[in-house]
Amino acid sequence: MSHQETDRATPLPLRRTGLDRHTPFSFSCMRCLQCCQSKKIQVNPYEIARLAGNLGISTTECIARFTTKNGSYLKFDNENRCIFLGSDGCRVHADRPLVCRLYPLGRHCNDRGDEWFSEIEPEAGCRGESNGGEVSLERYLESQEVHAYLDAADSYLKLLWEMMALLEQGGDNEDATDATEAEEHLLPENGEWMDMDAAVRIYCQQRELPFPLDIEDKMRMHQNALQFWIQQP
Ligand code: SF4
Ligand code: SF4
Repeated sequence: MSHQETDRATPLPLRRTGLDRHTPFSFSCMRCLQCCQSKKIQVNPYEIARLAGNLGISTTECIARFTTKNGSYLKFDNENRCIFLGSDGCRVHADRPLVCRLYPLGRHCNDRGDEWFSEIEPEAGCRGESNGGEVSLERYLESQEVHAYLDAADSYLKLLWEMMALLEQGGDNEDATDATEAEEHLLPENGEWMDMDAAVRIYCQQRELPFPLDIEDKMRMHQNALQFWIQQP
């Protein structure tokens, strides 16, 4: 099972679960900033690339400065506030991660492709308003502009599981038969495979391809690279 939801040491209390895209749902955030504190915000390479693009830096720099666990989570400061939280709100609002867009929803899916949503009990002090009516959850997703993020999450999920299993098994290029083959099969080191810019740069150098500038193109090449490296003997 996968999930994109705010993640804390203790399970988040749910108001209801088993929702689908047709379930009536609406919510207006009043930007009180309470929910940008005391969380663990998990991110994938696409979300890192969006944040890096917003900040005008590489994904390598973004991972080093703003994340923990090799780009897996956003950093929080000593007061447990998200590193992107400023006095006027989120400093990367246009490119904020999926869990921030979905809140107060969490999305779940399983390996059969089933999808469902939960509504999290709002933060203490949350000033968000449920507007009632017959607005569907799908309309809420559209209003939060999550579809590129959902597509990226789904397309990365299987690849990342397979890549982690390969690395845990110590997958490398020991069986390559000559220097060229060894170079083509070379896996990025030290977590570079999670770093979109670093991984794509290696992949492009190995094939003498131009480095893609568009984020969606770069993501597709990153996923091609992961798929290629996963399939190596
Ligand atoms: S706590 Fe509620 S109102 Fe405040 S920023 Fe989060 S969702 Fe919006
Ligand atoms: S990225 Fe922005 S919206 Fe998300 S937790 Fe951080 S400050 Fe809040």
